[in-house]
Amino acid sequence: MSACEHLENLAASDFPPPRTPNACEDCLNEGTQWVQLRECRTCGDVGCCDSSPRKHATAHFHQTQHPVMRSIMPGDAWAWCYLHSIYGDVGVASRHPEAVGSRRT
Ligand SMILES: [Zn+2]
Ligand SMILES: [Zn+2]
Ligand SMILES: [Zn+2]
Repeated sequence: MSACEHLENLAASDFPPPRTPNACEDCLNEGTQWVQLRECRTCGDVGCCDSSPRKHATAHFHQTQHPVMRSIMPGDAWAWCYLHSIYGDVGVASRHPEAVGSRRT
């Protein structure tokens, strides 16, 4: 089994600021309820988890192929790689000093 390079040395500072920190953007648009929130590492899109009726985080992956999301629920510090189907830890301290600040692409 190959390791997942996406989750290696992943830190909170590797994620862009969530576009909608307290809400699933698609649920707001559709008027549906979410259970928990996930943030896309690539673009900062916030979607709802697979316990939510609309599963927008997974839908976002299928639409965009952005491979990694993290939980943005309070107290959570984990990420998920859709490509490899594994969990990883999200470090609190930055191990990538050069990544601090905005590097939205
Ligand atoms: Zn991966
Ligand atoms: Zn949603
Ligand atoms: Zn994305």
